[in-house]
Amino acid sequence: MNKEAIEKRFHEYGFDDYKWITGRDVIVQQWVRFKCIFACPGNSAMCPPNMPSIDDCRRFFSEYEAVAVLHDQKTPQSEDDDVALSPKAGEDLLALERQLFLDGNYKAMAIPMTVCSQCVECTGLLATCRQQDKARPTPEALGVDVFETVRRIGFPIEVLTDYRDTVDRYALLLVE
Ligand code: SF4
Repeated sequence: MNKEAIEKRFHEYGFDDYKWITGRDVIVQQWVRFKCIFACPGNSAMCPPNMPSIDDCRRFFSEYEAVAVLHDQKTPQSEDDDVALSPKAGEDLLALERQLFLDGNYKAMAIPMTVCSQCVECTGLLATCRQQDKARPTPEALGVDVFETVRRIGFPIEVLTDYRDTVDRYALLLVE
């Protein structure tokens, strides 16, 4: 794996702020899954209960020695400013994943920083997902404790209480 070449790709696609960890540093916890199922109003096809078990998620991450934590920071300009819809959240990241794969990193897989918004209306079921080639789960959907994972490497993240608060979001890019 050529980390220098991979990082060059990160910058080409506009991901300038990142840190490397291993898959074993990605903290996967059962409580995250419970919060998804019982305390979140969303029902995307890329969310629990459509997701693999927590044990499978943990095993999946542990199979990677190189995981880039990609950081994006935005401050909403108004109450309607949905920073989750920035290109970095979806299209750019998928394009980067594809490029890294074509470069020979055959295990490359992107875990985006926000829930899939490829369709106007989500089917809510994995079996009927309309764009499975583009749909990816978020870290939280795979049981990742994003707060703990990023804080351990010195990245900022806080619970937000006002729409004007600066938002720190994180994608994971597994590369090998
Ligand atoms: S591609 Fe469409 S149907 Fe599939 S998870 Fe994304 S929004 Fe839902």
